[in-house]
Amino acid sequence: MNKADIVTELRKAMEFYRELGFDFLPLKGDVPVGPECARVPAGNAHTAPVADAGDPCPDRQGSLVSLRDEIGDCRRCRLWQGRKNIVFGEGNSCAKLMFIGEGPGRDEDIQARPFVGSAGKLLTSLITKLGLKREDVYIANIVKCRPPGNRNPEVDEISTCIPFVEKQIDIISPQVIVCLGKISAQALLRSSIPISRMRGSFFHFRTIPVMPTFHPAYLLRNPKDKWLTWEDMQKVLEKIR
Ligand code: SF4
Repeated sequence: MNKADIVTELRKAMEFYRELGFDFLPLKGDVPVGPECARVPAGNAHTAPVADAGDPCPDRQGSLVSLRDEIGDCRRCRLWQGRKNIVFGEGNSCAKLMFIGEGPGRDEDIQARPFVGSAGKLLTSLITKLGLKREDVYIANIVKCRPPGNRNPEVDEISTCIPFVEKQIDIISPQVIVCLGKISAQALLRSSIPISRMRGSFFHFRTIPVMPTFHPAYLLRNPKDKWLTWEDMQKVLEKIR
């Protein structure tokens, strides 16, 4: 390959990653440096469907409706006092991939939908860049009501609410769970390991592989770490294939 070809290929690679939302290429030997390393063909955004469109999973959908009924107008922990809505979770009941965040923020509380604010937009963008659609996956949180001022949920609030998301996991039975951020990973895995040490490796919830990674809100504040989450998600894609 001559110099001009190398420059052309490098430019293509950089344009590809710029489209993914990365502002620079990392100078690290084990990070993918070309489009072929992303394992998702460019321009072929829906080659890895997570849900089978021909299988609507009516039993799972019915079980999710029953669970929502069971939660009702929940006042089991103090978080009910400040909420506008219970954010149950949404997505494909047949999903092979489930994302679990920490709790609703302001936008989520208003819209009663998970991950719809600025962090949600980044998550949706990540899902799309992976070759999936938001409707293919299932998205929920550890606690279903917004903590006041977006503070972290307290231990007792988590322990009161977490059985609901665990039931959602049981119903959906995904192939892989991605925990977004420290609170989600530590709560689901009953661990106190920092997210910076957990991310990038698979753990297990019951028999389901769990990949902890950074919360999109953290990535908005620390865009240089998008690469790490991108690497984590490549491992997740490998698992669900
Ligand atoms: S956070 Fe969970 S347990 Fe607490 S009130 Fe909301 S739904 Fe109920």
